[in-house]
Amino acid sequence: MKDLEQDIRSCGLRVTKQRIAVYDWLRRHPVHPTADRIWSALLPDYPDLSLTTVYNTVNVLAAHGLIRTLNIRSEEQRFDGNPADHGHFSCRGCGAVLDFDIDVPRIASMLPQGCTAEKCDVFVTGLCTACAE
Ligand SMILES: [Zn+2]
Ligand SMILES: [Zn+2]
Repeated sequence: MKDLEQDIRSCGLRVTKQRIAVYDWLRRHPVHPTADRIWSALLPDYPDLSLTTVYNTVNVLAAHGLIRTLNIRSEEQRFDGNPADHGHFSCRGCGAVLDFDIDVPRIASMLPQGCTAEKCDVFVTGLCTACAE
């Protein structure tokens, strides 16, 4: 918890119970949830937490680079507790979003002449192991 508090504080943000709760849950659950899902998961422990607070919190954390936002399907925004560059595999069968390692320097070397990479998002869609059977 101390590390999480430190992360939040080092971005110049005030440490609040809600920010810690949302950030900690996202870090421990690499499932790329929607704000709704985070809210439902936290509600038993934080009965006074509102969905609006969850939305505001994830937006603040994302704006400061502590988490990432993902728009895999245009109608839903998901959140990722891992801010490092990595790839996402989206299963069209069950909707799962799985992480995979990407070779960022290699991808950067494949860019058009003169372009420099700042942030790398790789999306692959298909069927996961369970859905392919
Ligand atoms: Zn699947
Ligand atoms: Zn991810």
